[in-house]
Amino acid sequence: MCAITLQPLKIAAVIRMSSQTSLVEKGKHCVAVASEVLKHNEMGQTVDASSKLVSMQKDAAVLANEAEKLAKRLEAVDDHYQEMDAKLHRQVGQLGMQEETLKTGKKNSESILAGQQSVLRNKESQLSSAESDLQRAEGKLRDAIKEEKSIQIGSAVGGAVLGLFTGGIGLLVGAGVGASIGAIVNACRDEEKDARSARGRRKSDVDSAKSAVQSSENQISSLASQIKDLALQIQRLEQKRQEIHQKRSEIKTAIPVLKNSTQFWLLFKQLSEDGENRSTLLNKIVKKAHERESYEMFQSNGSQSAANTFFEAWKSIEVAAADGFSNHIYSIDYNCVKCSSACKALPFLRGPDFICSICHLALQPTDC
Ligand SMILES: [Zn+2]
Repeated sequence: MCAITLQPLKIAAVIRMSSQTSLVEKGKHCVAVASEVLKHNEMGQTVDASSKLVSMQKDAAVLANEAEKLAKRLEAVDDHYQEMDAKLHRQVGQLGMQEETLKTGKKNSESILAGQQSVLRNKESQLSSAESDLQRAEGKLRDAIKEEKSIQIGSAVGGAVLGLFTGGIGLLVGAGVGASIGAIVNACRDEEKDARSARGRRKSDVDSAKSAVQSSENQISSLASQIKDLALQIQRLEQKRQEIHQKRSEIKTAIPVLKNSTQFWLLFKQLSEDGENRSTLLNKIVKKAHERESYEMFQSNGSQSAANTFFEAWKSIEVAAADGFSNHIYSIDYNCVKCSSACKALPFLRGPDFICSICHLALQPTDC
């Protein structure tokens, strides 16, 4: 009976991981065998290659299948990144619209503020002339009071002196002069009072103009800070998009390599023991395996390197796609739809859904 527990599964996952990384070695072995059979053929040696061909074809079928599966996993991750990118793009658009609205609001507030500042300057100038009016009125009042006092003293003395000659009329004259200066003083007092209250009104106008300016300034400053926040958020999202674009471009480099390798392994399927074209096909296989092309590949540590043959490129992909290279460009954050674990690796697929390596292994048909 095949008892499946988590621990053996984990061990099996590790074994599977190491077998995955040795796929390239298996592939190289296939090519070596193909090369050997070809050499014998070319030397005219008739050796029984049937068992070798069968084993090669079996291995090549496994390799084609593995390469195809890996390409599909990478395509699924690429789709995932594409969705993320589209979502981020929408978010950037929405934030951009909010930013525009706030910028328009800020411009309006700034234009209102300019008007308010002009009103304030006007009110300050009115206050300043009201202050001058008040000072003038105070001066006039001081002068009038002074005049009144001097007239009172003068008329008292003058009236008394005049009285000596007019038999009392001089006193009345003095009283008359005193009464008219009194009216002047009263008028000056009223004027000073009016000027003081006008100054009070102007001061209150200035205060409310100042408070309107202050309120607009606060509003502008709050809008400016919101705009800054939004700009920062947009910048962060754009940075995330850049990272996604980078990851997608790396994935897009790897997928054709895997697809080519699938095509390559499928060539083995066409080999047959007595086929006329066997030598031609073997030649093609050996030549293609050693063909030197330039592939810009990413290493497991994220650094870039150039691979010359498709084997080297394939090896870079296999290593980077294996479990354990969780920080690699092919890995993503996802939740396994089967066990709900949060994972960071290249996911396996169950239909369109992502599953972890443990669940993937549990879903595989077992040999026992
Ligand atoms: Zn799982």
